[in-house]
Amino acid sequence: MRLKIPIETSARHIHVSQKDFEILFGSEAKLTYTKELSQPGQYACQQRLTVAGPKGRFEHVVILGPFRPDTQVEVSVTDARKLGIPSVIRQSGDIEGTPGCTLIGSCGKIELKQGVIVAKRHIHMAPIDALRAHVKDGDIVFVITTSYERSLIFSDVVVRVSPSFRLAMHVDTDEANAFANENNPTGVILKLFDGHTYSLQTWAEELQSGINR
Ligand SMILES: [Zn+2]
Repeated sequence: MRLKIPIETSARHIHVSQKDFEILFGSEAKLTYTKELSQPGQYACQQRLTVAGPKGRFEHVVILGPFRPDTQVEVSVTDARKLGIPSVIRQSGDIEGTPGCTLIGSCGKIELKQGVIVAKRHIHMAPIDALRAHVKDGDIVFVITTSYERSLIFSDVVVRVSPSFRLAMHVDTDEANAFANENNPTGVILKLFDGHTYSLQTWAEELQSGINR
């Protein structure tokens, strides 16, 4: 029996450092919990921010708690285009050399030097799920989605394993729209190439040059 993975859509959101939060909302402000998220300990906050780039802006962008060491803005490729910021695909936390933006809160404003990313699609899983799916932390896998008339195989999906994770694949709004995301979509890991890390790009190049595996 294959591991059925719930697929959740992450809309644009912001993780903030405490230092930046105090500039944006005042030194007395506290992160205000409004809603629990699927990953244990993560929550949506009441506070909202305006994210501005050279070409456009988004207002009322949700902040997710708790605080992180560095402020990070997660957007889709479509969002990045509207902001006028290059789309840089990264794993959460890996923000060195990424574009910045302007963040505007109720109390202050920050010119963020770096930290705007398009999150690399990923699966959160607990160690027991990794055992069942025969994968380990850092593996890159393919996931085939359930969908009506528009099923899709995602490549370059990173597996992230931690005892604090609950099984879920996270995609952004562009990716969810691409497979016509219905209620409670799920996906299954495809073990192509004997489960070795293998990029779709390499596969495509091989197929085009006549190599079939
Ligand atoms: Zn995630």
